[in-house]
Amino acid sequence: MRFSGLKVLTQGLTGNRGWRPHWRDPAPKPEYDIVIIGGGGHGLATAFYLAKEHGLTNVAVLEKGYLGGGNVGRNTTIVRANYGLPGNSEFYSHSLKLWEGMEQELNFNTMMSQRGVLNLCHSDGQRDAFARRGNAMRNQGDDAELLTPDQVREKVPYLDFDNGRFPIYGGLWHSRGGTARHDAVAWGYARGADQRGVDLIQNCEVTGIDTEAGRVTGVQTTRGAIRAKKVGVVVAGRSGQVAGLAGMRLPIESHVLQAFVTEGLKPCIDHVVTFGMGHFYISQSDKGGLVFGGDLDFYASYAARGNLPMQEHVMEAAMTLMPMIGKARVLRSWGGIMDMSPDGSPIIDRTGIDGLYLNCGWCYGGFKAVPGSGFSFAHLIAQDRHHDPAARFRLDRFSTGRGIMDEEGTGAQHNLH
Ligand SMILES: Cc1cc2nc3c(=O)[nH]c(=O)nc-3n(C[C@H](O)[C@H](O)[C@H](O)COP(=O)(O)OP(=O)(O)OC[C@H]3O[C@@H](n4cnc5c(N)ncnc54)[C@H](O)[C@@H]3O)c2cc1C
Repeated sequence: MRFSGLKVLTQGLTGNRGWRPHWRDPAPKPEYDIVIIGGGGHGLATAFYLAKEHGLTNVAVLEKGYLGGGNVGRNTTIVRANYGLPGNSEFYSHSLKLWEGMEQELNFNTMMSQRGVLNLCHSDGQRDAFARRGNAMRNQGDDAELLTPDQVREKVPYLDFDNGRFPIYGGLWHSRGGTARHDAVAWGYARGADQRGVDLIQNCEVTGIDTEAGRVTGVQTTRGAIRAKKVGVVVAGRSGQVAGLAGMRLPIESHVLQAFVTEGLKPCIDHVVTFGMGHFYISQSDKGGLVFGGDLDFYASYAARGNLPMQEHVMEAAMTLMPMIGKARVLRSWGGIMDMSPDGSPIIDRTGIDGLYLNCGWCYGGFKAVPGSGFSFAHLIAQDRHHDPAARFRLDRFSTGRGIMDEEGTGAQHNLH
């Protein structure tokens, strides 16, 4: 079933009786060439690109809950390519290009909106750092513009420019950044993978990883054993637990990240805006809600729910930057479990077990990575060699110390990235 304007029109005129389910609900087969553990954004994109780019369709995605029920359906939907360090820079640049063609590629409306991302700076040092980052972005072929305080005021007049502690010194403007509808991205990739023959198996938790003589042979699940020649682990906040099933200990800590949405308001925030002196970022959804978030909880946890101290911390940052937000009522808050790596950059690599591949460490920035990560992970699994833009995301950088990509410059403390 292809979507088009004509299809919407004819369905609307004929009682909407012709729509079909977006994907099948197959029972697991006893054996696949490739099993992907985790039906989040990254797992579904991996399956899609395995089928589309490499013609590999004897593939299953095993999801313990429902597709899109994890972080891919819980994030604040910000998409950008404004990284400064080699390794991250080329990867996110590639990912943003895939975002720009995604709706055509998937024939699915993911509501991609390149409304621009504005990072605010509040000191001379921060402005210098933004200038360096902007230059790195431009060298990579992406867009970046350093704005003066007056140019910022023109774009976002509602900010508190004269805040005594955090005056606004300018901002880094990234016009190709923006937002997309998070669960539509999961659904689009799921539909595309299913159409190409991939089995998407929900309510199927992986409880064991089978190996023989240093090679993966399959997985144990709540729906029985499944043999596989290759297995990809891409389970975000559960990475440590699932890798533990194969006897591996990862350099990953799991932390909760919360987000918030207000009641629907008339359009008032046209871009994505981030506060440089507190961890706070905001955009307005198409329904009118102000969607915002901030720091993650500073202790490790698997509880996918928020708590009051962090809510207070984030709201304080919001009020400091844009006092007008105090008039809006918060409707909901929620949490997701983040896979925090020691340098804040991800891992897409082989493991010490033949045929077992790992994709994790996305911290709180893995939504924008969905297409790039799926593309690169599929390349690695299919061809057993790294895809160039993701070639630096090696697991062994944490044991050798070579190739660390500490984008935030905060050192090896998971919760500071
Ligand atoms: C509040 C919040 C705000 C965020 N904001 C942004 C943002 O604005 N921009 C951005 O780029 N990123 C953001 N992120 C981060 C981003 O959402 C994640 O990095 C990304 O979604 C993680 O990858 P995923 O989609 O594959 O994860 P998930 O959707 O969590 O997928 C992992 C899947 O694995 C499944 N699984 C786990 N264990 C097993 C098992 N044993 N067997 C089978 N399946 C299993 C889970 O059920 C889950 O569905 C945010 C995250 C949160 C929580």
